Amino acid sequence: MVLDNEEIKLSEKLQKMYQEFLIYVEQENVEFDRNESKKLELKLEEKIQWLNRYLIHLEKGGKRIQAGPDYWVQHENHKLIVEYGEDEQGNVKKDILFLWCETCSDIVSSHTKKSYENQDFEKINNHFGHEINPVRKGQNSKTICLTCNNCQKNKVFLCSDISDWFDEI
Ligand SMILES: [Zn+2]
Ligand SMILES: [Zn+2]
Repeated sequence: MVLDNEEIKLSEKLQKMYQEFLIYVEQENVEFDRNESKKLELKLEEKIQWLNRYLIHLEKGGKRIQAGPDYWVQHENHKLIVEYGEDEQGNVKKDILFLWCETCSDIVSSHTKKSYENQDFEKINNHFGHEINPVRKGQNSKTICLTCNNCQKNKVFLCSDISDWFDEI
């Protein structure tokens, strides 16, 4: 059995980061609206628990999460917006797009213009500044679609299959 040690390490690091963020949110309640703070705490707890299950999956030799659809499905029905990337100096980089989740204040996925995901980039770029929801094609469907709340035309603009193991963990 070959373990994906790199991904295990990365996931452990991510889990630690969410745990630290959760502690911060719990302690610094003042910064947020009380209800908003509670909602964020629940979202963070969900992420930490999901990472627990993902780590068990990896330690059994399971496959690595795939960029795009596996991340979109974790934000099913959440409110997403498209934003430009920034370099270290804070300059806007229009060749990098981020899908940002407003529901859980987190980056969902990033898309670079020059990569093989080129088509995804263009499709997402068409909805810059719009409100986007990831929605499954049907109940229990393995296909997740990005849908736009601001557009009548091309409302469903990007669909992709999630990993077959994803719903099992
Ligand atoms: Zn979310
Ligand atoms: Zn749109």
